[in-house]
Amino acid sequence: MDIREKYIEAGKIAAESLRYGAQLIKIDASLLDVTEKVEQKILDLGGEFAFPPQISLNETAAHYCAEPDDTILFKKGDLAKLDVGVMIDGYIGDNATTVNLGDYDKLVEASREALNNALKIIGPGVYVGDIGKAIQETITKKGFSPVRNLSGHGLAQYVYHDKPSIPNIETGDKTQLKKGQVIAIEPFASTGSGTIYETNQANIFSLRQKKPVRNVITRQILTEIMKYKNMPFTTRWLSKNLGIAKVNFALREMIHQDMLNLYPPLPDSGRGFISQAEHTVIIDDEPIVTTRI
Ligand code: MN
Ligand code: MN
Repeated sequence: MDIREKYIEAGKIAAESLRYGAQLIKIDASLLDVTEKVEQKILDLGGEFAFPPQISLNETAAHYCAEPDDTILFKKGDLAKLDVGVMIDGYIGDNATTVNLGDYDKLVEASREALNNALKIIGPGVYVGDIGKAIQETITKKGFSPVRNLSGHGLAQYVYHDKPSIPNIETGDKTQLKKGQVIAIEPFASTGSGTIYETNQANIFSLRQKKPVRNVITRQILTEIMKYKNMPFTTRWLSKNLGIAKVNFALREMIHQDMLNLYPPLPDSGRGFISQAEHTVIIDDEPIVTTRI
């Protein structure tokens, strides 16, 4: 497979796993169970995890990942964002969708339509600010707020957030898309303020820098973490073999040593509900949406 074929394969597996996961999200289903089934699906289809699958509910836009002992059950009225990232040889397909267990059809439509309108205008030479403009106009017209401090992003081999940043609002950014570039576009629509903040409860991390560690347990966990290269991982993955107490101890020490990037849940600052849609695209004269099936 050449690089483009790897992106297309990763996108296809990401899309199939997303569709599979989305139909499992039902009232009374368990968030942990759905997450583990999505993970198994990715592996069954021959993919690797680009990051842990995440299911963020209601006012949380992103970065909620099932805890090892997670007890959340989906309930009537929930709005669930499922975000799935898959790699083939480090080349990533990143996509997300919103499952509506309540009365949010218009809100779900807003982010979906914003994504479609963005996809209609992209191509070599297009300003990223104009993508943000298309997203903002679509969401605003539906009566919601685009989430302004979350954005889409470039992708590269083993790089899940590369340049350029793809804004969800009009920024006037004159950075132009280039042929062959791979980007993820991910509009979020909010009934609230359209700004999110970081909580302090991260269970998703990535290795920022390796440092010598003396403690035996921390060293053991660091060896495990190195297997994920620089890609995000979650405590649940580590705790399967190593036990949650050891994992938490080691992670605390590594956070203290500034060795980790943290990805905490991101709720809306006005407690509004948030929908999301995301696709990965290879920029070309005819752009290829790798995660569309
Ligand atoms: Mn994503
Ligand atoms: Mn993304």
